[in-house]
Amino acid sequence: MRQQKLLDDSDLLITCLQCYVVKTPHHTIMVDTGVGNNKSRSGWPSWHMKTDDIFQKALNAAGITFDQIDFVMRTHLHSDHVGWNTRLENGRWVPTFPNARYIFLRTEFEYWYELNKKSSVPEFADSVLPIVEAGRAEIVENDHQIADHIRMLPTPGHTLGHVAFAFGRNKDHAVFWGDLMYSPLQALYPELSGSMTPIRRKPPSRRRAFLERYCDTDTLCCTGHFVSPSVVRIRRKGSGFACDFLQAQ
Ligand SMILES: [Zn+2]
Repeated sequence: MRQQKLLDDSDLLITCLQCYVVKTPHHTIMVDTGVGNNKSRSGWPSWHMKTDDIFQKALNAAGITFDQIDFVMRTHLHSDHVGWNTRLENGRWVPTFPNARYIFLRTEFEYWYELNKKSSVPEFADSVLPIVEAGRAEIVENDHQIADHIRMLPTPGHTLGHVAFAFGRNKDHAVFWGDLMYSPLQALYPELSGSMTPIRRKPPSRRRAFLERYCDTDTLCCTGHFVSPSVVRIRRKGSGFACDFLQAQ
């Protein structure tokens, strides 16, 4: 375990964007798909129309190719979690992972579907709908399981249908919690909500209960935005919780 620097020299939070690949005995699963390339994201200058090979290089370094992914799961459908769902090919958005089934939680999917009908939501239009049109989408309820290794844990707050994923047979060896928290500061002070959190009534109780569930266990908590390497274990600290970061490999 080691101490992580959480703030930069201007006292702004240091964050990063994480995607994870998990290999179970039966499947290779992508959890969250980052920002993506060639996407019009005018509100986010560093994401807007970016073209880099960071994502593909990282996958390849882990010995994984796009066609080896069996399932794609997203904690929620914000633009920094759905980007690599699709890639641009001959002017069309096509599934990045051609053999994968893309799992969508119904609550989250329907919320963005209805919103996009009223006024275009770019990340839904270019990163979710093409998956449906390609016949690769599977819209599921929140008690959905994949084999006996993967369970969904509803964590509404950051979005209406935000969900965490617990991986492991008979026990949660690892949990992927997306944007339930952006920073270890929110573990220490679970009632602290970020400006990106729209449903202010919900997160505190969910977050504290979630931290209690994993406190003083050996479950690996794989976060969406904690400073790299972004994987922590939880222990109690005062009236809140501390995050012990795993060493980067
Ligand atoms: Zn996010």
